[in-house]
Amino acid sequence: MYHELFRNASFWDFLFSVDAELAETSRKEGCPCGGRLHRANYPRKPRGGCEKLPEAYGCRLSFCCEREGCRKRRTPRSVRFLGRKVYLGAVVVLVSAMRHGPSPRRVRELSELFGVDERTVVRWRVFWREHFPQTAFWKVNRGRLVPRIDISKLPSALLTAFIHGGNSREEWRHLMEFLSPITITGGLWIKENS
Ligand SMILES: [Zn+2]
Repeated sequence: MYHELFRNASFWDFLFSVDAELAETSRKEGCPCGGRLHRANYPRKPRGGCEKLPEAYGCRLSFCCEREGCRKRRTPRSVRFLGRKVYLGAVVVLVSAMRHGPSPRRVRELSELFGVDERTVVRWRVFWREHFPQTAFWKVNRGRLVPRIDISKLPSALLTAFIHGGNSREEWRHLMEFLSPITITGGLWIKENS
């Protein structure tokens, strides 16, 4: 099962390497004003991964323009963090799907596996059912998925679309990359903090 994959620090190392590539692409593009970007990461204390997450998980990669008078921030897309949610993005997707998929897991079981409480799971459900389908991201990108996704089956329908039991690490990467535009301001504003 996927939670075995999630217990493995190498999976989280792998996702970090993807984030590092996304960040490098942003850095090379520079600021729209023509200024160079300097590293200005946000500190994070994510929950829900393996017992000891790699050190790189203590921050969300981000940049700031070096030009006086601009100093504009640029935060690249991420396959690790879903907006401002405290729990790791892949955990938010998986737990929400396990709770309401074809054979729902009990909250107690999910709590033991990922340390997620019931209130948090309820908030995530609201996010997937009500906020996510309203985003510009979803309206533009839902057409890329075949077969068409029934929004009442989010996010388990996303797992069905992306995760086929092949190279799980790569499949998760593709799923989180697909969702990554919602991890930055402009893609979707996520208000909740969990
Ligand atoms: Zn600038």
